[in-house]
Amino acid sequence: MSLRFAFRLYQRRLRQPLRTARDAQITVRSGIWLRLETETELRWAEIAPWPSFGSETFAEAIAFCEAFPAQPTWVDLAAVPATLPACQFGFGCLRKPIRTGLLPTSAVLLPAGAAALRAIASAAPATTYKWKIGLDWESELELLLQLDRQLPRSAKLRLDANGGLTTAQADRWLQALTAINERQPGRIEWLEQPLDPNQVDGLLKLAQNWPQVPLALDESVSQLSSLQFWQTQSWPGLYILKPAIAGWPQTVLQFCQEHQLPVVVSSMFESPIGWRSVAAIAAQLGRADQAQGLGTTAWFADDWESKTAAALWQHPSNS
Ligand SMILES: [Mg+2]
Repeated sequence: MSLRFAFRLYQRRLRQPLRTARDAQITVRSGIWLRLETETELRWAEIAPWPSFGSETFAEAIAFCEAFPAQPTWVDLAAVPATLPACQFGFGCLRKPIRTGLLPTSAVLLPAGAAALRAIASAAPATTYKWKIGLDWESELELLLQLDRQLPRSAKLRLDANGGLTTAQADRWLQALTAINERQPGRIEWLEQPLDPNQVDGLLKLAQNWPQVPLALDESVSQLSSLQFWQTQSWPGLYILKPAIAGWPQTVLQFCQEHQLPVVVSSMFESPIGWRSVAAIAAQLGRADQAQGLGTTAWFADDWESKTAAALWQHPSNS
């Protein structure tokens, strides 16, 4: 029997709009579900592009799926070009599913700006919180002090600028964060992607100048090739890995394991089909004592998390 391939698009509404220094305002998440019937089983996977992070566009991913044979061979499934890293993730998971082990713990993703303070008050207590900055940095510096006061004493805070700071602004932030970590070591777990990915020397210099606050790269390492580049630069900080847009999942996994990279895995508002594969990668790569960035599921108000892949595929609300 030959393989049978099908795909369908979905749309999913966020509980509240997502704002980052890179994306103006996102209210709806769109993605593509993949279904493969083999001789022995049904397999599901997801393509979840995020173009502002260097992946292909949604339209490019759809075009690839439309041109893909309905009765593919295993060779077809391995022939996705490097220009389509989100498609490589989806087809890579179809070809060789990544099974979920024990799910790692995850940081709570707070909304940007002052809404973070309200969110902390209503969120279940967690060990690690993540806050997006770089939208209005002067008011955020004041909010930081309030956040620091309001967070549980034992909690850690990671900040994510999404590449939105200038070098001068990054210095101001790192000065404030260093003061917090001097008072309470480890309170600020890291500052993520302070500068634009183009500023390679600037990022290396920040890491050198501010040793008391770890830095993490995210947008800088969003595909396998850029991950490889920073590994050769001996980056002294952490790597945020977004498997859904990084390329072939098995290749990425192997590279991180071979070089023992300090990786924290992050989801990108995938539906449960893609999210489960991302979480499985996090379970394999993440440090046991470090929360992973899988908290995007709480941003959706629907009940999709409780549904199986087969039920989602039949779901009436997808387009
Ligand atoms: Mg980030």
